[in-house]
Amino acid sequence: MIYLDYSATTPVSYEVLDTISRVTKDFIGNANSIHSLGVKSKELMDSATKQIADIFGVLESEITYTSGATEANNMALIGTALANHKKGKHIIVSKLEHPSIYAICDYLQEIGFEISYVKNDDDGLIDFDDLKKLIRKDTILVSVCAVNSEVGVRQPLKIIRQIVKKANMSTVFHSDITQAVGKVSINLHDVDLASMSAHKIFGPKGIGFLYKSSSVTLKPILYGSGKSNTLNPGTPPLPLIAGLSKAIRLADNDLEKKERFINLLNEKIINHVSQYPDIVINKTNYSIPHILNISLLDIKPETFVHAMEKHEIYLSTNTACSSGALSTSVMAIYNDLERAKHTIRISLSHITTTDEVNRFLKYFSEEYEQLKGVK
Ligand code: PMP
Repeated sequence: MIYLDYSATTPVSYEVLDTISRVTKDFIGNANSIHSLGVKSKELMDSATKQIADIFGVLESEITYTSGATEANNMALIGTALANHKKGKHIIVSKLEHPSIYAICDYLQEIGFEISYVKNDDDGLIDFDDLKKLIRKDTILVSVCAVNSEVGVRQPLKIIRQIVKKANMSTVFHSDITQAVGKVSINLHDVDLASMSAHKIFGPKGIGFLYKSSSVTLKPILYGSGKSNTLNPGTPPLPLIAGLSKAIRLADNDLEKKERFINLLNEKIINHVSQYPDIVINKTNYSIPHILNISLLDIKPETFVHAMEKHEIYLSTNTACSSGALSTSVMAIYNDLERAKHTIRISLSHITTTDEVNRFLKYFSEEYEQLKGVK
């Protein structure tokens, strides 16, 4: 098998799996229980949270565990909207967000909030002047993803935050950092709120976190019992939390070294596919090498993905969450419908090997030559 869909999800690393299995066996208590088994579980949870908080240089109380990035995005956007609706009902998002952000915005619009979409330039970067123009007195939230999931465009969060705060100090700045963690360095002090998910960084599915700066107030969207966290009540999933903490610690190692290697693989693929005039590369000056998007203008992308699957090679058309639809990110950057309808996303990781890429390219050419023109 050649897995080239690491941005959709990653396999769980052995170290993380080992942590999850040990914690499952050895910590049976509910972290909310007052007896010694509960206290033991709570202590482990606190130490996992401290490790995460230390890596990102934030307070432990600023981390809320969630089931993943979708839930964290819901808590961040809906929570901000409900907490601030008396101040204003205006929200700004980019045109390069994950589908979960747009789904939440559709809901917020239904209940009376106004959504504006900030323009981007040809590189996919937020248009700073447009952002300045859009921010108003009643703008309560700006949400811009750190790294786009389809074309890999990395946004300058620090600059965006400065623009937001200069225009309106009370506007909350949220970033979906799901595709950034483990790939590029992230400074949580550049944002007020951030969402991430463990399964993109060789951690388990079903866990992630929301970072909420202590200066920001959210209205909870979940209600229940349990004293651990007011935003996410209930029994904390301790094995998953320990697995998330382990995955974050492993992901944080050698980021630049991993990126340099992935860049070589990325260039190798680009060099190879560039021989075909009907393939265009959807890569901007700000795309990170882990996410490589190309358009096969003369092939239906689903057909190609399934043809590669026959060789046990796994790719995406665009994001796993919007398969079948056109790529909204490619459309936002290139404004070209044909290009946006024909995208393939090849996502690489530090465990991808040169041999895998060579074999991928061999089958790529075989299938491409055969399918060319079969739309
Ligand atoms: N945001 C981004 C940028 C993503 O790539 C994804 C996963 N495709 C999500 C959110 C949703 O994450 P989860 O599956 O953890 O809900």
